[in-house]
Amino acid sequence: MALISLVFPIFNEEAVLPVLVARLEALLPILEKDGDTVEVLFVNDGSRDSSLLQLRELAQKHSWARVLSLSRNFGHQIAVTAGMHHATGDAVVLLDADLQDPPELLPEMIRLWRDDGWEVVYGKRRSREGETAFKLLTASLFYKLLHRLTSVAIPENTGDFRLMDRKVVDALNAMGEQHRFLRGMAAWVGFKQYALEYDRPARAAGETKYPFRKMFKLAMDAVTGFSYAPLKLSRDLGAFIALGAIVYGVIQAVRYALAPRSFEPGWTSIIVVLSLLSGVQLVTLGLIGEYIGRIYDEVKGRPLYLLSEKLGFQNDAQSTNS
Ligand code: UDP
Ligand code: MG
Repeated sequence: MALISLVFPIFNEEAVLPVLVARLEALLPILEKDGDTVEVLFVNDGSRDSSLLQLRELAQKHSWARVLSLSRNFGHQIAVTAGMHHATGDAVVLLDADLQDPPELLPEMIRLWRDDGWEVVYGKRRSREGETAFKLLTASLFYKLLHRLTSVAIPENTGDFRLMDRKVVDALNAMGEQHRFLRGMAAWVGFKQYALEYDRPARAAGETKYPFRKMFKLAMDAVTGFSYAPLKLSRDLGAFIALGAIVYGVIQAVRYALAPRSFEPGWTSIIVVLSLLSGVQLVTLGLIGEYIGRIYDEVKGRPLYLLSEKLGFQNDAQSTNS
């Protein structure tokens, strides 16, 4: 018997909420039939439509409904984070409110968690309906880039749709970083993870709350949060320029030795010195970048490691991760 928390971020979802609630009402008895309890957390992320009014009503009407309302629009990732902080379940599931993450997959996710012992069960999109070619292309390029830049294997074609064991939620809650890229953080914490494939339907109602601007911010958070490769760019560029300057200088010196008369005075030495120095400058900047990167890692204050089991210690036979 377990408590399962469902977390839905809500930003201007008045069109979708009635559909969502109907689907949940049909599903809850199925989820609770084996003695489990379900709580549903709706995190209002500064909606400017009637979403909050609807949510308040829900909280009054249903004992399973909980509502958190953020003071303004903080963005999807932060809304979900707030939900995770306040969820009390043994397992916590993150879902989009627009029903693109079908709640009907929940029984299977819960089974994989409880019976098969997976600590994270994340949805992997086999197909994606109703997404523009532009979104699919940028998403695919983004994951390719991310793979090259980061050392954490962040699975492709996944979103934030995932069931997480309490241990994993506690681990993520302990990470206080400001710029949160949850699917990266969830990959970073490790634990036993299962990819559950599904066909992603189109949005049930309303339109996307993720304009290009927000997608771009998410992508930046992902890249900067999980690598400092951009800082190393100047180092590599600098090394390239400095090397080029040296090679050019040597070639010109040889040409001068062979045919001094055909040379224009001044030009070569200026170019060589100039590019050598700017190369050296960039390398030095890269070096500073390396240190800044390390400072950045320290400032994030992520735990150095996470335990998934602890056996044979006195006093905490079953406590893991404490
Ligand atoms: N969302 C949010 N705050 C925002 C933007 C989106 O809480 O600033 C929520 C939104 O209500 C939905 C989820 O995040 O529940 C995913 O958004 P959406 O479905 O619009 O993104 P898409 O599927 O188009 O990428
Ligand atoms: Mg959506």
